[in-house]
Amino acid sequence: MSNCNSCLKDTNDSYCRSCLQKLFNGKKINHVLQFTRPEFNELRLNHGDRLSISGVQTKYSAKLEGKELQLTEENGTYILKPIPHETFQHVDDIPANEHLTMQIASQVFDINTPPNGIIYFKDGGIIYVVKRFDVLDNGKKLLQEDFAQLAEKTEESAGKNYKYDYTYEQLAELMKKYVAAYPIEIEKLFSLIVFNYLVCNGDAHLKNFSLFRNEQFGDYTLTPAYDLVNTRLHIPVEPDTALEFFKDGFITETFKAGTKYTRIDFIELGKRIGIKNDRVEKILSKFTSSSEEVTALVEKSFLSDDLKEKYIQLVNERRERIKY
Ligand SMILES: [Zn+2]
Repeated sequence: MSNCNSCLKDTNDSYCRSCLQKLFNGKKINHVLQFTRPEFNELRLNHGDRLSISGVQTKYSAKLEGKELQLTEENGTYILKPIPHETFQHVDDIPANEHLTMQIASQVFDINTPPNGIIYFKDGGIIYVVKRFDVLDNGKKLLQEDFAQLAEKTEESAGKNYKYDYTYEQLAELMKKYVAAYPIEIEKLFSLIVFNYLVCNGDAHLKNFSLFRNEQFGDYTLTPAYDLVNTRLHIPVEPDTALEFFKDGFITETFKAGTKYTRIDFIELGKRIGIKNDRVEKILSKFTSSSEEVTALVEKSFLSDDLKEKYIQLVNERRERIKY
């Protein structure tokens, strides 16, 4: 028995049946790619930058050919994220961290996420693999706009810090403007903000939230969540949240006293963005009463033992802040 490379449950194969179905359309894909990391690097250089997808962390486009995942310049239906060439702390653990954080989001908190898992280079290096949610199996591309686009913020218009120069309250206001099903979708956005805080994802900036635009009706819904990582494990000095909560420089008395967001701030944010108080309480209690499920997934994950311990400790600290 080993752990499924996607859901982490016990299985006799690389991926359990259910995950093979969701992640690879039922094809029995090996959890080892046909190329090594050096071969991959060579391939990457030969293609210029055309295999990579923009973003801070380099991502590569891949598609299924027979029973293999192959790199591709066009019509990619998967994104591969190997260990980045960066100098972050514990950089080798970044793929396992993203995989674990995405699985916690989906399995413990019912946050909508695309199917994802772990796959390896032929010579052993770990890769996070995720199915693209903006491309359907028939190749049709969905219209997706991130909140930097919706807010009309670019480096040219708002400077280098444009992805961070905004607040979650404003993000919700933008959503209200575009999303007809706002009362439903805003609870999903709020849950995602609480989740990011719980798992120390300090990089949930404007480009890490997106809406789908329905071509036929022109209305918008929230896309699945993506790029969820416990960034504190790799960047210890990062601020607790990528965006501040409240617009116009507002801060709560408790924040002023402790310079940390706590339960009071989440309740205030919920109120300001139009979620009923009993719903806010219900959502928060889901995040504060889940420590066993989170710990169980961390223990089964592909993180190194040191970081498993640190991950659990960080989440426990954040959970206490959301409790009181
Ligand atoms: Zn599975």
